[in-house]
Amino acid sequence: MPLDFLDWIEKNKEKFIEISDSIWRFAEIGLLEEKSSHLLIETLKEAGFTIEQGIAGMPTAFIASHGTSKPVVAILGEFDALPGLSQTSDPIKKPFEEGAPGHGCGHNLLGVAGLTACLALKESFDNGDFQGTIRYYGCPAEENVDAKGGMVKAGAFSDVDISLTWHPWDFNMVVTTNFQAIYSVVFNFKGKTAHAAADPYHGRSALDAVELMNVGCNYLREHLIPDARLHYIITKGGQAPNIVPDEAAVWYFVRAAKLDQLAEIYPRVVKVAKGAALMTETEVEIDFQGGSANLLPNLTLEDLLYEKMNQIGSPTYDQSDQDYADSIIKTFEKGYFDRILATYPIDMQKELEKLRGVKLHKTVIPLVSRGVTLPGSTDVGDVSWVTPLAQFATTCTILGTPGHSWQLVAQAGMSIGHKGMLYAAKVLALASFELFTNPELVLQAKSEFNKKITRTPYKSPLPDDWKPPIEYIKSLYSDHRK
Ligand SMILES: [Zn+2]
Repeated sequence: MPLDFLDWIEKNKEKFIEISDSIWRFAEIGLLEEKSSHLLIETLKEAGFTIEQGIAGMPTAFIASHGTSKPVVAILGEFDALPGLSQTSDPIKKPFEEGAPGHGCGHNLLGVAGLTACLALKESFDNGDFQGTIRYYGCPAEENVDAKGGMVKAGAFSDVDISLTWHPWDFNMVVTTNFQAIYSVVFNFKGKTAHAAADPYHGRSALDAVELMNVGCNYLREHLIPDARLHYIITKGGQAPNIVPDEAAVWYFVRAAKLDQLAEIYPRVVKVAKGAALMTETEVEIDFQGGSANLLPNLTLEDLLYEKMNQIGSPTYDQSDQDYADSIIKTFEKGYFDRILATYPIDMQKELEKLRGVKLHKTVIPLVSRGVTLPGSTDVGDVSWVTPLAQFATTCTILGTPGHSWQLVAQAGMSIGHKGMLYAAKVLALASFELFTNPELVLQAKSEFNKKITRTPYKSPLPDDWKPPIEYIKSLYSDHRK
């Protein structure tokens, strides 16, 4: 008898909820996710997976494999948290530790749904239900470094036939939309220090350079394509007002719908930085942190995920989930639903409009707005250029929950999040099983991929000498490492 995936996942769910909650509590910043990565690795090792750890110079990146033959189906998992979002699972704002990180994007759920699916698939494989190789990709630092691009560059996906992933969301859908390509770059300015009152004329302010660069970039915006995005934070701005700062730094994200558009915009940002250095008689050093491509969609795989999402059906919510939802909704800003709607393309807005007033979404949004670019980026993009890939999202939060918010952290650590995670695990397991047992489907997805990639070849957004910025991340967040 072939394994009943849905039954196996239900029977083993407590173990996976516990792992997800542990990662939720660890809440580690990207590239520093030692405990989270270790827990996932140990669980996979114990189940009999072979582990390769430390991919592309990132100690927390790993690949877990079971099986040796084709096809190779990869499930991608993430597990990094966001700074400053520490929060308990209570429906009121209440940090565990003020200023510490929290899972504001639900990546604890993301990583564990993939783990659950891989372990269920291994049971089925060992039962003799199919041939092939099951892979779990432990992908660190989605939020701050776009680490998957580094893994792609290191050849980690070179023998993969198909990749699948998902993301916690506030409604159920196959991700049919696209995301922006992004570069993440730090501009370090160096000047000359001096007493700011007694001797300022001997100083050359690195902070002036940062400010002038930002002014220049804000003027540059008018002459960029409308969908491009530039945003920055000043990560170093001096020690005290009475010292001319000899060191200052600004961290930029530059985004556009496509990699080639980004490749045109970025040198203009660099010119502004060099201009600021020239004006202030300082020097600028450019530190390219990371980057990721827009997505290359695969409609064959999107259709497969849509079918499985509908086949399995959404989880049910009990009274305590409903009560929790009522409490959380009270904390949302007035007009929150319209604000969320406006972030989606028009056809998806029409579908979401039908859900006005729904708290916990249970159907699956139809396959609309295919290929339309949403603001925001994901490093899943790079993987989609080297293997056919599709992703979906499940209800892990109340409809309208803002991204990267304390409300999201709270829900990623309680039953609504857990239910969405288990639903996602079931979809990943059933879709992978279909791919393992239906070679025609794999061929179809690959032929669609090959046609697209021949038309537009992929070039990694990362420079050839790219190294993961582990020390930089440590220097930014060392105060709140638990
Ligand atoms: Zn995320």
